Amino acid sequence: PPAGAPLLEVQAVRKQFGGLVAVNDVSFEVRAGEIVGLIGPNGAGKSTTFNLVSGVLRLSAGQVRWRGERVDGLPSREIARRGLSRTFQHVRMIPEMTVLENVALGGYLRSQAGCVRAMLRLERDEERRLFKEAERQLQRIGMAEQLHELAGNLALGPQRLMEIARALATDPALLLLDEPAAGLRHQEKQALAAVLRQLRQEGMSLLLVEHDMDFVMNLTDRIVVMEFGTLLLEGTPQQVQASPAVRAAYLGT
Ligand code: ADP
Ligand code: MG
Repeated sequence: PPAGAPLLEVQAVRKQFGGLVAVNDVSFEVRAGEIVGLIGPNGAGKSTTFNLVSGVLRLSAGQVRWRGERVDGLPSREIARRGLSRTFQHVRMIPEMTVLENVALGGYLRSQAGCVRAMLRLERDEERRLFKEAERQLQRIGMAEQLHELAGNLALGPQRLMEIARALATDPALLLLDEPAAGLRHQEKQALAAVLRQLRQEGMSLLLVEHDMDFVMNLTDRIVVMEFGTLLLEGTPQQVQASPAVRAAYLGT
């Protein structure tokens, strides 16, 4: 789609866990070429929103549209296949496998209808293709030197980059990142921000949950603020930073 066209539309989305309303009537958009931040205190409903958008959880109400078509109710694999990919808040990897193997395995699980069927039928050609693609994505984010290191031996920064490489294997138009900078050292955050800017440069849109305000302010075009499951405010980083409601809810000042 042209820059500025809505890629993702979240419309009056609601999620209830028993008596708890985790996400309540939340609406926002991500347009092509944008980096959007999703912020808010712990428990605000950010990860749940990601789970609703990526098809990990079923909506209680509302709609999710991708390139104009409804995708709520579709399995997450199908949503990923259409170009919407994500990472999880906690690193998911097999520490005893190499970086390259972890990324190739991710592409493999995403590309197949079922894990068991896939394992039985994995052809040599298909295996070669998956490893080539994994290598390409790892080179793309600057990890060419670490292909054969054991994933478990990496520092947290490179582990997060590895997760991004895995999410890139489906060639997404929009990447959802759940707290990619959490726990990273300053230099690792800088490296991550550079990679995310590069991906945007290459035409990708990004939606990221993040706690580090400096990181969000410097990287995003627009910010959506959630509190207690609802959308508190949406605006430019400058508008959000200046908002008394946000300062009270999120910054505690
Ligand atoms: P955030 O990512 O903003 O910290 P979450 O989306 O993880 O917040 O959680 C929002 C609320 O929903 C929290 O109160 C959390 O305990 C609750 N919650 C999240 N996932 C589940 C679940 N699977 N079952 C029950 N409650 C959940
Ligand atoms: Mg979360």
